[in-house]
Amino acid sequence: MCGIVAYIGPREAYPILMKGLQRLEYRGYDSAGICMLNDDLKVFKCKGKVADLEEYVRGKDLKGTIGMAHTRWATHGEPNQINAHPHFSQNKRLAIIHNGIIENYAALRSELKNRGYTFTSDTDTEVLVHLIEDIKSHEKVSLEEAVRIALNQVIGAYAIVVLSKTSPDKIIAARKGSPLVIGIGKDEYFVASDATPIIEYTDNVVFLNDEEIAIIRRNEKLKIRTVRNQDKTPYIQKLEMSLNAIEKGGYEHFMLKEIFEQPRSIRDSMRGRLHLDLGLVTLGGIRDYEQKLLNAKRIIITACGTSWHAGLVGKYLIEDLARITVEVEYSSEFRYRNPIISEEDVVIAISQSGETADTLAAIELAKGKGATVLGICNVVGSSIARATHAGVYTHAGPEIGVASTKAFTAQVAVLTLWALLLAQRRGSMPMSQFRRILGELNTIPDKVEHTLKVNDKVRDIAATYINVTNALYLGRGINFPVALEGALKLKEISYIHAEGYPAAEMKHGPIALIDEHMPVFVIATRRGTYEKVISNIQEVKARKGQIIAIINEGDETVRKLADHYIEIPETEEMLVPLIATVPLQLLSYHMAVMRGCNVDQPRNLAKSVTVE
Ligand code: GLU
Repeated sequence: MCGIVAYIGPREAYPILMKGLQRLEYRGYDSAGICMLNDDLKVFKCKGKVADLEEYVRGKDLKGTIGMAHTRWATHGEPNQINAHPHFSQNKRLAIIHNGIIENYAALRSELKNRGYTFTSDTDTEVLVHLIEDIKSHEKVSLEEAVRIALNQVIGAYAIVVLSKTSPDKIIAARKGSPLVIGIGKDEYFVASDATPIIEYTDNVVFLNDEEIAIIRRNEKLKIRTVRNQDKTPYIQKLEMSLNAIEKGGYEHFMLKEIFEQPRSIRDSMRGRLHLDLGLVTLGGIRDYEQKLLNAKRIIITACGTSWHAGLVGKYLIEDLARITVEVEYSSEFRYRNPIISEEDVVIAISQSGETADTLAAIELAKGKGATVLGICNVVGSSIARATHAGVYTHAGPEIGVASTKAFTAQVAVLTLWALLLAQRRGSMPMSQFRRILGELNTIPDKVEHTLKVNDKVRDIAATYINVTNALYLGRGINFPVALEGALKLKEISYIHAEGYPAAEMKHGPIALIDEHMPVFVIATRRGTYEKVISNIQEVKARKGQIIAIINEGDETVRKLADHYIEIPETEEMLVPLIATVPLQLLSYHMAVMRGCNVDQPRNLAKSVTVE
């Protein structure tokens, strides 16, 4: 959510900043701005996309080897030019960009007003830059010290970059709750919300920790100090991300590329963990906590959005295979409802970005109550990866499309391994069954590859339904979360209202919606409750609803009942979500494209939701 990028070094900053903003576009935003520091602080900003900003600054003086840029996702004040970042201090000598929310901004604002400050924007951010100016002029301290003192008065979350006209060779950056990475090149530094704007220049990075301030001076070593005034030695890490992985590679959209990457991303998520020859599953990241998991009375999975759906698949898997009680909680609810958590509970937090603010808060709450908290994240070095006691990376590679696809299936693959690991250690399933599922899991990447061949057919089916206003998704058992995820994907990118339901639950309400205009997407694969799902299909047909069924190859029975069908290869019931999700992703994608929607950056959505 929102993007920050800054540069200091020997090169012209503008092209680096602009390209950086483009790389961060996927995070979601509504306005953008840039600040160049040459003789003066020059700020240009506008509502809209990075392309609009590029157009807006054409012909302007953008010279300079130090600067910063921002994409905003409005929290305080509507998305317009005035509220866009950067924001100036009153004396115009300081400029700030900020990601996050200053929760006590109202109190700070009225104090500053009493001291004669005037505000031009409605943002919480402007409060912070005035506060820094106020401290700097009264206390006669350096910029970094003024920032430090100011941050001690701030409640909330922030990633900030501050530039000062009077310190033309210095960048001050700080974070709490919102991510910030510093890239270290030869005589140059980069600051960004994630590593994507940095990767093409250097792979040496420092992930700033909460409440740390980076003092970046031209031609000097990076210094890090905490808001409590302790010096820290920067921990430089090597980035393992290729430029290729964050570019479209010939696909029209990132989302389509990421859907098609799934055979590989699922395989990567299992690499070195699924040992077919040994009949064994290992998850190195949580090895030290295995005993704790085996003794757990209960596992609580906490997540948001698509990750929550993966969590729900995890519940079916862990309960069925390992026979441990699992509860699945929305992080945003969990954190505010005084949940009962004990030291015997294990909490698993799932987040693609590893920066989801609600999930981070849920982790802190659970840790505070003594629970062991483990993570499943995609982004290496992310806040959740660091806040949890231990965890497992999904290794799906960078996901740029805002609507999650490959990260979801990688999360499900990891949860499947997790359930199998617990089942094996607990002896809750016969070895023959364990080996059979393991063998089958190993074939899933190939089966997903095969499934992707339905793309053309799915496009044709999608064309039939692009003008609908509602859609229903039905599934039973472990395919119920798949129905939820199918509906969410359609909502997110095509703006068609869609609901996912357990198929049998339909008759307790949503059946009232069914008429000849209503498409009903049903996961009707052969295992499990197949016969029951057929009855549910009959119920829809009896009311003239349109059935689009996901079926196993060669299933004549459902073929005859359905208006359209999409065939997928047969697999173990527990593994169907890894395959059945794929055609539903493609359906949403094609419907959204045909409706003219921006699939990679859907309106109002952000990739990593770093605000509550
Ligand atoms: N709270 C700030 C604003 O509304 C920053 C939002 C963001 O993270 O982009 O301007």
